[in-house]
Amino acid sequence: MNLQQRVIEAFEQQFGERPSTIIRAPGRVNLIGEHTDYNDGFVLPMAIDRAVWLALRPRGDGRIHATSLEQTEPVDFALADIQHSGGWGEYVKGMAKMLLDSGHDLAGWESILTSDVPVGSGLSSSAALEMAVGCAFAVVSGFPFDGNQMARFGQRTENEWVGANTGIMDQMISANGQAGYALLIDCRDLATQPIPLPSGTAVLIMDTMTRHSHTESGYNERRQQCEAAAAYFEVSALRYVSITEFLAHETELELPIRKRARHVVTENLRTLNAVKAMRNNDAPLLGQLMNESHASLRDDFEVTNDELDIMARTAQAQPGCYGARMTGGGFGGCAVALVQADLMHDVAAAVATQYEAATGLKPQIFSTSAAAGTAVIQD
Ligand code: ADP
Ligand code: MG
Repeated sequence: MNLQQRVIEAFEQQFGERPSTIIRAPGRVNLIGEHTDYNDGFVLPMAIDRAVWLALRPRGDGRIHATSLEQTEPVDFALADIQHSGGWGEYVKGMAKMLLDSGHDLAGWESILTSDVPVGSGLSSSAALEMAVGCAFAVVSGFPFDGNQMARFGQRTENEWVGANTGIMDQMISANGQAGYALLIDCRDLATQPIPLPSGTAVLIMDTMTRHSHTESGYNERRQQCEAAAAYFEVSALRYVSITEFLAHETELELPIRKRARHVVTENLRTLNAVKAMRNNDAPLLGQLMNESHASLRDDFEVTNDELDIMARTAQAQPGCYGARMTGGGFGGCAVALVQADLMHDVAAAVATQYEAATGLKPQIFSTSAAAGTAVIQD
């Protein structure tokens, strides 16, 4: 049974009728452009075929009731009285709060949701949840789902309600993904351009089975270091520092600030070069840029762990692999590889064996295709 069928069946069991609306909101994998989003820079993610599925019906009493098939406790609250309570409900409440604070008139709903986006693995299960919830509010309350605007509410939910100081990439791609395309996002103004994947390639997601936690990790520290570097260059974000300017002044910056800035400045360049490579159907060049991105995240930004390094290195060494890198915030989670489509299974099998031999961990490796963004699904 697929997730759509499962969520409908669970809804019918709980509510005794079919849901009035079914929403799908995908997770994402970032091909390149890591830790650039909160520096006003460029990112190049794609929405994946793993997603949050949410089935709902409206309710007239201004309450939200949501059950997740992956969680024991349902979420239940009145829109008129939104309080922190911890747990996964924070993402639902945060979205409601941000929408209300911006003047939206919200109606209540009740729902069942389920997801196959692994939690804390760098594929953005939280952004998928936020976009599903945002879409639920849009449908029930009768306003359009504006992807960029909803992404901003999702980011504010993370920043202001949950306390995770994350950028806007995850919500942007979950909201605006296009089937068959990665999306170049300029995080300065949220302009987007769909970019086709090179022909004959496939994307592998390789889960190290180690996990991050944004609020506890060095994520916030990295953000502060980037801000310090931007302040030195007297700009609002590192996006506005060119490679020439950086090279002219880098020795004036202290370590590790210098290394953090070097990553962001070079990663923005690599991302724009990756777009050119994709437009030229140049898979080897795209792969090489992904490898360089990993090295930069490992040596300059220092957000990999041993398992991510082993995973990327192992993938890079396989015939049929164009390139591989960690993806997402880092400190654990997944790596992503661009591979020759006809050798995909060989690469996945070899990496799985060699990674397990090196780490003792059994990785999850799966292929993914570029999927559509958040939408109501007609069944
Ligand atoms: P990620 O990198 O996967 O986004 P986060 O720590 O940012 O990791 O978000 C994970 C959190 O999102 C979970 O702890 C949970 O609160 C919420 N979440 C994700 N998937 C689900 C789900 N299927 N049901 C309920 N909550 C979920
Ligand atoms: Mg998250």
